[in-house]
Amino acid sequence: MIKIQEGCDQVCAYCIVPTVRGRERSIPTEEIVEEVRRLISSGAREVVLTGTQLGSYGFDLDGQNLSSMIEAVLDETDIDRLRVSSLQPLEIMDGLLELWSSAGADRLCPHFHVPLQAGSDRVLSTMRRRYTGEEYLKSLERVRTAITGAAITTDVIAGFPGETDDEFQQTVELVTEANYADVHIFPYSSRPGTSAAHFDDHLDPSLVAERAARLREIGTVSFAAFRRGLVGSASRVLWERDEPSVGLTDSYVRTRLVSGRQTGRARMNSIEEVALTGFDGKVMLAEPLMIGPDF
Ligand code: SF4
Repeated sequence: MIKIQEGCDQVCAYCIVPTVRGRERSIPTEEIVEEVRRLISSGAREVVLTGTQLGSYGFDLDGQNLSSMIEAVLDETDIDRLRVSSLQPLEIMDGLLELWSSAGADRLCPHFHVPLQAGSDRVLSTMRRRYTGEEYLKSLERVRTAITGAAITTDVIAGFPGETDDEFQQTVELVTEANYADVHIFPYSSRPGTSAAHFDDHLDPSLVAERAARLREIGTVSFAAFRRGLVGSASRVLWERDEPSVGLTDSYVRTRLVSGRQTGRARMNSIEEVALTGFDGKVMLAEPLMIGPDF
């Protein structure tokens, strides 16, 4: 993982990051390229670009932005896989997405973590998020139009102060409609130092827990549906662990090798093409497509 920027200028009502990490600042592209080269020389096959506001990368640097930085990493290093850890919905522009089919084809991971937080426009506005539910869904549509089969994951906060039953229902509907590959649910909890901590309409903790459980149920269904849809397809897995061989596809799906050859397992830290043959309720099951030196 390489942190490409620090801090956040957005000041969401529930978040302490702007207070503890300060204003946004970007790491110069040359330093990122250098760090990627260093990681490659120590054996890294995949690099994850991390930060709190990746989409605004470069606003404080001369002539640099997220697209130009990604292009530089792809052009100037031999990294096999590059993953962008998260993007805000309004940062997902067609120009950026084009990288997945041009300079980054086969190397940029088709995985987009796009935090939702809530499905109600009023709650989003109270949270100080900068998009509506409709704008959010349009950003997912842009991703899916540009990159067939992209995996989209998200974060949702359950039981934000003042969230009514109807507003929660809007979140339920949006999370259901979005067909996520994975959903991370956070039951709202008050953080000292945030503006939401001073709101006077906090929900009863039992209601927060109930709403979180309901969203988790939807997330579990969506998680399984995405993976069942992959059965019968081929994918490239970076093997991370042995006995059994477990790794991640480029779309961030945990996968276990169920039939290897010779050694009975894959070679760690290799990237192999596999056939996805099943889903056991937790991980995808895979068989090697090619019987080569890595099996
Ligand atoms: S939730 Fe994200 S965008 Fe909002 S203030 Fe925190 S780090 Fe910034």
